[in-house]
Amino acid sequence: MRIVILGAPGSGKGTQAAFIKETYQIAHISTGDLLRAHVRNGTPLGLKAKSVMEAGQLVSDELVLGMLADRLAADDTRNGFILDGYPRNLIQVAALDELLASVGQPLDIAVKLTVPFDIIVGRCEIRFKAEGRKDDNPDVVRERLRIYSDQTEPVVAAYRAAGRLVEIDGVGQVAEITQRIQDTLKPYA
Ligand code: AMP
Repeated sequence: MRIVILGAPGSGKGTQAAFIKETYQIAHISTGDLLRAHVRNGTPLGLKAKSVMEAGQLVSDELVLGMLADRLAADDTRNGFILDGYPRNLIQVAALDELLASVGQPLDIAVKLTVPFDIIVGRCEIRFKAEGRKDDNPDVVRERLRIYSDQTEPVVAAYRAAGRLVEIDGVGQVAEITQRIQDTLKPYA
């Protein structure tokens, strides 16, 4: 199974992707996690990405695509993958389609978690206190939500228009949302 999970920052993508990974034994590829590891390890990519991420902006398409292509080449993607945090804009949608077509592994479906922005802001505040991620600071969250509306909502619209999207209510208990996703994904397993 090859899927992307879409949703605003704090919509629960990472949490739900971890369950999907276990259920279907596929790779969970989070571009945010990969970038944070580069920052932690002080790699050349990490040095370029750090200030951009802390400001809540998007890292350059070219850098993220290169990182993603390397990750998709790893053995653990043979059963499929769930992409979390990519694509973030329309350029990345086209780049992903091209990359996956070149390896004969097209996407099955895009899953979008829908959560109202006021709930998102509250969740990011809780995560800021728990994990201390600089980009969960309320000012930066506002910028990330602005970028989501400007650049990532069109991604959702494009998958919807192409009939490649399922939308799931992302409000409720974690287990309830997991169940909704699993019911939706059954036909693709
Ligand atoms: P996330 O954990 O997905 O919220 O990502 C954290 C940060 O990493 C984002 O705010 C961006 O700065 C950067 N990032 C993650 N994925 C992408 C992407 N696909 N394109 C550009 N920047 C990204």
